[in-house]
Amino acid sequence: MEKEKVDYIFNHHSHLMTFKEKVAWKHWSTDYKIENGDYESSEQRERRRRLSYKTGWLTDDKEMLALLDDGIEVFKRRIAERIYKEEKVEFNNCPQCGKLTRTPKAKQCRYCGHDWH
Ligand SMILES: [Zn+2]
Repeated sequence: MEKEKVDYIFNHHSHLMTFKEKVAWKHWSTDYKIENGDYESSEQRERRRRLSYKTGWLTDDKEMLALLDDGIEVFKRRIAERIYKEEKVEFNNCPQCGKLTRTPKAKQCRYCGHDWH
């Protein structure tokens, strides 16, 4: 599945993720934010990390973490493909050029500029 479609499903149909997928995704985003966040000291960063485990934003569940083993792009693509297959997601394609729009409700094409309001 192309990255564009993966992002579309991830951005607009993420409620269709399973519980485990959601926990893994939450873990990855939280970890990313902590890693890239501005902290005055490494102690502060560690404190934030410990707190995140307590509040459930980070997980130590091996099964859920294993979903992230192949990297975030693979993780996202697998989930998008599963959701597409199991939930029969419909893509909102431009009626003129057939390309994928930005959102499920978009009525204007970002490629050819066609407007079907
Ligand atoms: Zn178009």
